Amino acid sequence: MFDLAEAADRDLVRLEVGEPDFDSPEHIVEAAVDAARAGETHYTSNAGLLELRAAISDTLDREFGVEYDPEQFVVTNGGMEALHLAMLSTVEDGGEVVIPSPAWPNYWTQTRLAGGVPVEVPMDEETGYALDAERVIDAIDDDTDAVVLCSPSNPTGQVFDAEPMQAVVAAAAEHDAYVLADEVYLGLTYDRDPVGLAALTGHPDHLLTIGSCSKAYAMTGWRVGWLGGPTELIDEVTKIHESTTACAGTVAQYAAIAAMRGPQEPIAAMYDAFAERREYVADRVDAMDGVTAPTPDGAFYAFLDVDLPGSSLDIAKRLLRERDVVLAPGDGFGDAGKGKLRLSFANSLEQLEKGLDGIEAAVREA
Ligand code: PLP
Repeated sequence: MFDLAEAADRDLVRLEVGEPDFDSPEHIVEAAVDAARAGETHYTSNAGLLELRAAISDTLDREFGVEYDPEQFVVTNGGMEALHLAMLSTVEDGGEVVIPSPAWPNYWTQTRLAGGVPVEVPMDEETGYALDAERVIDAIDDDTDAVVLCSPSNPTGQVFDAEPMQAVVAAAAEHDAYVLADEVYLGLTYDRDPVGLAALTGHPDHLLTIGSCSKAYAMTGWRVGWLGGPTELIDEVTKIHESTTACAGTVAQYAAIAAMRGPQEPIAAMYDAFAERREYVADRVDAMDGVTAPTPDGAFYAFLDVDLPGSSLDIAKRLLRERDVVLAPGDGFGDAGKGKLRLSFANSLEQLEKGLDGIEAAVREA
């Protein structure tokens, strides 16, 4: 859809994009410029600046109740590299990776890159795609190397409850598999306290935490993320990271320190804007005939069921062609995403209004 939208020579309402519409706050940019001017233009330690790992450790503790020492982190080139390293270090050739879906498409590709076999476990739309622990646990056996839990979820915005997540970690630990907790959206949790899975589980030795500056700090282009977990495993991971990328970009690491240690007002203002947009989208969808979606508890996505004929790609193409609205087709998020569309509310209220008007009109006039 992205390519189709780029090729169209007219203004479109772009609600398919999975990144904040805000530029990085000024003090973050300044910190990077200052670092570069001060000669911080060299490699850092492979695991990342200790000062940054300490900032990550403090931030996760303060905001999400997660207690990792700074040495339990490796700073990566975005959450994407963190996930890749997590897969490479936990998945053996032919090992299975259990993926509750709908889920971010990279879990499939990253599993295969690591030589593993993805095992999709679809969750139910009726429960708002809540984590069905029983179903996930049924899919875990001695062939399982890893289980991915993404909360808040891309694409559904669902935040999983503690209990089913704890049950899944316990089952994974029993089979000596790791849970990969993708928490890149944890800072964008609404109406409930954001708690990291590492704070909830009695099996921290079987858990890896994936985090990132990308979403909550509007820093997608800086490529700073992290992988947290048991020290021995993180030491191994750091060796792979050293062989492939050496370290995350140095000035970007200084920018990340500023994001976490600097003024939090600009970050809170972005959060408030996302919260307002989320309410707007939820209210509009609730009031619409022929469109439903579970209210998102986190991230900046609503996963829509739009009452139009055809596959999710057919519907997405029709909305683009006839209503100038671009959404991401749900098929890409696995079997449970078939027929659905992901709407990103990382866009202005004005654009959201236009987009939702277009969707409403398409359904009404179908
Ligand atoms: N995990 C999820 C669920 C995502 O949606 C993304 C990006 O869209 C990432 C991880 C990786 O983000 P980044 O590499 O920008 O930190």
